[in-house]
Amino acid sequence: MKKLLLLFISITLLNPNWVFGQICGTPTPTNPVIYSGNANARGASSAYCIDVYFHIVRNTNGSNAFTLPNTDDITEELNEYFSPHNIVINNAGFDFINNSNFLTLDALYGTEDDALFSTENQAGVINFYIVDNFVTTGVVGLAEDSPSRNLVMRDEDALSAVSAHELGHCFYLLHTHDTVNGVEAINGSNCSNAGDLICDTPADPGLGSSNVNVSCIYTGGGGYNPLPNNIM
Ligand SMILES: [Zn+2]
Repeated sequence: MKKLLLLFISITLLNPNWVFGQICGTPTPTNPVIYSGNANARGASSAYCIDVYFHIVRNTNGSNAFTLPNTDDITEELNEYFSPHNIVINNAGFDFINNSNFLTLDALYGTEDDALFSTENQAGVINFYIVDNFVTTGVVGLAEDSPSRNLVMRDEDALSAVSAHELGHCFYLLHTHDTVNGVEAINGSNCSNAGDLICDTPADPGLGSSNVNVSCIYTGGGGYNPLPNNIM
């Protein structure tokens, strides 16, 4: 239930260190559920603690395939974005997955991500998998779904704002430029059933038809006034 209540939290943050050309592979839900009745269910003074458990993929022989990430640093990075909104990320621990097949993950058009997400998966936490890379060029991370309890990042981007972006998907946040549910009008008149389905994020033209590209920061014109520092 927690993740559903988080839908209406605007994650508007400063200095996301966004890097152009990065692609998010999270699929967009085709029948999103709108929980408008819960918009004010979460008290402003109450904090949510979210446990994140890390799974680090290694070579099958148990040797490290990449420099081991510091999961405390990743947790700190996530808290930089979420704790100002009373969502506290807790490092719940980590394990290793010794399987070379997962090192370069065939996720966007393959099914290896499903296999990975069912490996060592823990209940009651967000499972944060770390691989060396993705088969599809440009993909740096993805959540299993919006919402979900599972995400995967490539190691070199685990400390970037994309991790917070994918965690946002886990909490049911969509891309602000999403058009699967319709194009959000500039005046926001259809904000509750188009775009990202959230009304306090202005219409974002992004790249229009793409539902995987998070590299599209709008540069001006056309009457749009999106929030360039929104991690989604
Ligand atoms: Zn995304």
